[in-house]
Amino acid sequence: MSAQAILHDVFGYSEFRGQQAAIIDHVIQGQDALVLMPTGGGKSLCYQIPAIVRKGVGIVVSPLIALMQDQVEALLQQGVKAAFLNSSLDAESAWRIEQDLVDGKLDLLYVAPERLLTPRFLQLLDQTELALFAIDEAHCVSQWGHDFRPEYVQLSILHERFPHVPRLALTATADEPTRREIIERLGLIGAKQFTSSFDRPNIRYRIVQKQNPREQLLRFLETEHPTDAGIVYCLSRKRVEETAEWLRSRGWNAFPYHAGLSNAIRQENQQRFIREEGNIIVATVAFGMGIDKPNVRFVAHLDLPKSMEGYYQETGRAGRDGLPANAWLAYGLSDVITLRYMLDRSEADEQHKRLERRKLEALLGFCETTLCRRQVLLNYFGESYSAPCHHCDNCLEPVATWDGKIAAQMALSCVYRTGQRFGVKHLIDVLLGKETPQVQRFFHHKVSTFGIGRDYSELQWRSIYRQLVAANLLTVDMSGYGSLRLTENCHPLLRGDQTIALRKDPEVFRRKTKISPAREQKESSAPKDELWQILKNKRLELAKEQGVPPYIIFHDSTLVEMHAKRPKTLEEFAGISGVGERKLERYGAAFIQVIRAHES
Ligand code: ADP
Ligand code: ZN
Repeated sequence: MSAQAILHDVFGYSEFRGQQAAIIDHVIQGQDALVLMPTGGGKSLCYQIPAIVRKGVGIVVSPLIALMQDQVEALLQQGVKAAFLNSSLDAESAWRIEQDLVDGKLDLLYVAPERLLTPRFLQLLDQTELALFAIDEAHCVSQWGHDFRPEYVQLSILHERFPHVPRLALTATADEPTRREIIERLGLIGAKQFTSSFDRPNIRYRIVQKQNPREQLLRFLETEHPTDAGIVYCLSRKRVEETAEWLRSRGWNAFPYHAGLSNAIRQENQQRFIREEGNIIVATVAFGMGIDKPNVRFVAHLDLPKSMEGYYQETGRAGRDGLPANAWLAYGLSDVITLRYMLDRSEADEQHKRLERRKLEALLGFCETTLCRRQVLLNYFGESYSAPCHHCDNCLEPVATWDGKIAAQMALSCVYRTGQRFGVKHLIDVLLGKETPQVQRFFHHKVSTFGIGRDYSELQWRSIYRQLVAANLLTVDMSGYGSLRLTENCHPLLRGDQTIALRKDPEVFRRKTKISPAREQKESSAPKDELWQILKNKRLELAKEQGVPPYIIFHDSTLVEMHAKRPKTLEEFAGISGVGERKLERYGAAFIQVIRAHES
């Protein structure tokens, strides 16, 4: 069968996306490849289809048990002969799958790297006809990355032991050093590289100035995602717990996830997120790797991620299905102060610190920019994206800058006049001329900057200080918690030789107005009427019968199309994207029935 026919009949899609056709063709010819494609780009088909077309079984190396199970379940639903081998299986089931393997009864076998590398398994492979090796999450081979798996390094053995079997390494990690490491360590020097754009056009990036983050989060959920599933990231376990608790007290189905919870609770919360609909998971970055739930509609950060890489990876978990999704981050002065403080306290050696500093500066630059966020993000990853995207906060609601020279001078001299020993709150009290007990105690009502800043509000001063810290004109003192000190960089500004353009944060400089129209635009393209609910219920019912997540039955995008076209015959139903032969057979009648019942 041809690749195109399999795409249509088995997977129910009419066209290949992006470079899929070229990659699949290349692998079917028996060539090696390195595939760099963002999350949601459609990497799986790149090895699944060649594995079906070529003789023998495709071996897929995957580091994540949950992911394997999901993929295999999805393939079985589509009538593909797939199985997995990992530590979750009992000995007898594993033995049966090994038999199927050598008997040539499988199209695809997913296997954990540590199992693949056992002498026993390699011997089994010697007796098996092999279509290809796919090495998923290939960046796990990188020692510098955050997902390093020592076993991945040993995968170079595949090349030596099975030189005639094509190998396909896939990753969504974009940067050049990682790419080089994959090629070198997996022995892919001659392999063709297929690089796609890392843009995720369906994700809308937005950063809001943090004031009352929980309330801001709540407003965001209420206006844009009242019934959607999403992830809320926080920095600490404590914050995770508190936020989840608080959301629950407000009537949201929110579940915590962090490394401090017992394995059982983590599993349960993760399962609820995956198998039920519309749940929110509140998590530290411990959560996410290996979650390929396609209909995560938003990723919200209540704290800054650690780096641009972290931000891209975490936000990338939204909208795998290609439908509109939101990346929302609340960012403020306290975040900048915490990060600068942690960096100074870091015990890393000089070289490492420099690297950390560069990463931090990039992240702060991204938060503070008035340019298109997508441009800044993609440029950071070495991709030129020249026109503004019209789909991020800065594009949709352009941010003005203002000449902050005088204000910055006031802010900086206030730090100086008070001895570089105080935190922002006190500094702002002085600028605003507030005679608080602390101001009096230190005689700061006598300093020259007392009361000179009354033209700006407290919030505006916080915005100014945030930007001065982000721009490294101020630094955070290690000895006194959160007290600010001048850095060398501020001399030209203080002397008046230099000016500074500050961001006019809309939330802070705008008079209190209603949410602007750009924010009110409805996010999810999912229809919210009765038929939509009926279709979703049907899907959930079928999923529960089989103990699988709803998206394994049909993706949201398939449901959306069903809702729009309202198929009433099997023939019409077959025309819906995502409906292959097997799913038509299994589910067509059930959905047609509820559609008909609804219309009669
Ligand atoms: P990745 O592994 O790159 O994150 P997946 O392989 O999981 O991405 O694919 C993402 C989504 O896109 C899946 O829902 C998949 O079914 C869908 N998809 C992939 N290729 C196509 C295609 N050619 N046409 C329509 N949908 C596709
Ligand atoms: Zn933009």
